[in-house]
Amino acid sequence: MIRLEQITLREIRLPLREPFRTSFGSVSERRIALLELRDTDGVTAWSEGVALDAPNYSAEALDTAWFAMTEWVAPRVLGREFTHPRDVYPVLEQDFRGNWMAKAAIEMGMWVLEATRQGIPLATLLGGTRSEVATGISLGIQLTPEALVEKARAAVAQGYRKVKIKIEPGRDVAYVRAVREALGPDAPLMADANNAYLLSDADRLAELDDLGLLMIEQPLAWDDIVQHASLQKRLRTPICLDESITSVDKARDMVTLDAGRIINIKPGRVGGFASSLAIHEYCLAQQVPVWCGGMLESGIGRACNVALASLPGFTKPGDLSPSARYWARDIVTPEWTMSSDGMVRVPLDRPGLGVTVDTDFVDTLTVRQVVLR
Ligand SMILES: [Mg+2]
Repeated sequence: MIRLEQITLREIRLPLREPFRTSFGSVSERRIALLELRDTDGVTAWSEGVALDAPNYSAEALDTAWFAMTEWVAPRVLGREFTHPRDVYPVLEQDFRGNWMAKAAIEMGMWVLEATRQGIPLATLLGGTRSEVATGISLGIQLTPEALVEKARAAVAQGYRKVKIKIEPGRDVAYVRAVREALGPDAPLMADANNAYLLSDADRLAELDDLGLLMIEQPLAWDDIVQHASLQKRLRTPICLDESITSVDKARDMVTLDAGRIINIKPGRVGGFASSLAIHEYCLAQQVPVWCGGMLESGIGRACNVALASLPGFTKPGDLSPSARYWARDIVTPEWTMSSDGMVRVPLDRPGLGVTVDTDFVDTLTVRQVVLR
C-alpha cells in the first residue's frame, strides 16, 4: 500500500555542454522539473518531468506541465491509497485528457517509491530482464555534412551501438549519405526528422532508402498516423513513430494501418510506466521492436529510461547516452557511464533509481520550488 503525503516540485536549470539542435529548434540550457515524493512512512523518491521549455515537441511545455501537476495530477494522487503503482495511471486518465508528461512525472515517481519501499531495483519492479542495455547516440543537426561526419566517427569510436542523425529539409540526404560513405555499409545509422516533412516530400524521403538506415523516425506531423501509413507504403526503410504514440491504442493504430514498424517509447510522452509497459507488451506480442528514446533528461530521468530499456522487447539500442555526453556535471552519483562497447549497466545492486541524487548540487540549480501536500 502506497500513500503519498508530500510532493516537492522544483525547477532546475542545467547547462548543456553544447547546444542541441533539432528540426524544431536549439537548446543550450535545460529547464527541468524535478519531483521528490514522500509517502506517509517517510520513504522518499525522486522523479523528473520531461516537458521541454516550449510546446515544440508535444503540446506540453515545462510551465503547462507545472500547472497541470500542481492543479490536477498531485491532488488526485496525494493522500490516496494505492495497492500498486500500476493503479495510478487509470486514476489519472479518468476524465483527464492529455497532459501525459505531467502525469508521467508523478506516476513514474510512484514506481520509484514502490521499488524503494520494497528495497528492489526499479528495473526489477518493472519486469526488466537485462543487466546492461545497449545505447546509441542522437546527433543534433550540424551546419555541414563534414561536421556531422566528424561527430558520427567519434561516436562510433566511443562504442555507440547506433547513430541517430537529426534531419530537416535541406539537411537530409546529402548529410546522411556523407555519414554512410564515411562509416561504411555496416554502421547502424538512422534518421530522426521530428515532424519536419510533409507527405508530398515522399520522393525526397525515398532517396534515403538506398542508404541502409535502420529506420526513419517520425518524418510527418507530430500527431499523425494515417499519413505515415501512406508514406510507409512508399518507403523500404521502416518508419519508427515517436511523437504520435501517446498510448497503447495509438500503437495499435500504427500496427493496424502499417503506419510504422518500430516504436520509440519515451515513458514521459505516454503518461508513465504503466502505459509504457502496456505498449511494450502489445509490441512484443506483435513482434514490433521498441527502444527507449531520450528527452535530454538529467541522471534521474536517465535512471528511469535505463530501467525501462532492460525489458525484453527493447531490442534496439536506446538513446541512453552517459551523463558526460550532455552535462558538465550530472545531478546524480555515480554519473551514468557507458562501456567501450556501448553498454550501460543496469544498477541491479541498488534499490529504487540505483543512483543517489546530489541534493546540494540540485539546491544550487533550483530556481523555484513548491511543496504540495
Ligand atoms: Mg524522436
